[in-house]
Amino acid sequence: MAIIDGRNRCGMTVGKRLKDNPDFPLRRSIKCGKCGGHLSGGWSRGRSKRYAYYVCKNRCGAPSIKVTVLKDSLIEFLTEYTPPKEKLELFLMLMRQRFNQDIAQLRTKREKAEQEIAQLKQMRITLGRKNMEGVYDDEYFREQKKDLDGKITDWESVLGSTVYDTKYTMDDIEKFMRAKFEDLGRTYDKSEPGEKRVLLGSISPNRLAWQYSGLSNQQFSAEYQAILGVQPNQNALGVTEGS
Ligand SMILES: [Zn+2]
Repeated sequence: MAIIDGRNRCGMTVGKRLKDNPDFPLRRSIKCGKCGGHLSGGWSRGRSKRYAYYVCKNRCGAPSIKVTVLKDSLIEFLTEYTPPKEKLELFLMLMRQRFNQDIAQLRTKREKAEQEIAQLKQMRITLGRKNMEGVYDDEYFREQKKDLDGKITDWESVLGSTVYDTKYTMDDIEKFMRAKFEDLGRTYDKSEPGEKRVLLGSISPNRLAWQYSGLSNQQFSAEYQAILGVQPNQNALGVTEGS
C-alpha cells in the first residue's frame, strides 16, 4: 500500500528515511514549540536513576522533556484527536471522490495520447510511401519525418505520465485508513517506528509541536483540521505559555 510504503499519496507527506533510535523514537517527529527546532535525545542522571529526555536541538532555552512524558502525552493527544466515525466516513468519501477524479482524468489524457500517436504513425507510413512513389522528394520527406518523429516522442512522454499505480485500489486505502484511524493513540502505540512516522506525517506534515505543557493541534494539516473542526490559530508557533 502506498501509504505504508511511504510514498506520497492522497496529499500525505511522509518523512525522510530516518535512522531509528529505540530510546528516542520521537526525536525528529516532534518539534520544539518555542523555536520550531528538532528535538534531540539525551540521558540524565537523576537522584536515584538515569532517565531519557528530549531537548531542543537549538538549545533555545526551552526545558527538557522526559521521554515517557512526551510519549504518554502524544498517545493521549492522538486519542483525543481521533476523528469521530461519521467524520472519518466523510473524509474517506471525499478521498474516494478525488481518487476517482484523478483516475478519470488520467484515463482521458491517456486515450487522447494513444489516438494522437496512432494518427501520427499512420501519417509517417503515408509519408514514406509517397516518398517511395516519388511524390515527395527526399529532402521534404526527411523534414516531415523529423517533425512527425518529434511529435510522436512528445505524445509518448504524455502517455508515460498517465501511468498510475494500480497495485492498490481505493478499497485498500480505505481499509487501511479505517483500521488506522479507529483510535489513533492505540494505533500509534502498536505501530512500528516507520509506521509511526507515516501516521504522524499523515496528520501533520509539518510535525507536531510540543508547547511545553502539551502538544498543539495547530500543526495538523488543513484537511485534518477541517475534519476535526479545529479552529486555526495564527499564533500557534512561537507563543508558548508558561515557559
Ligand atoms: Zn527550541
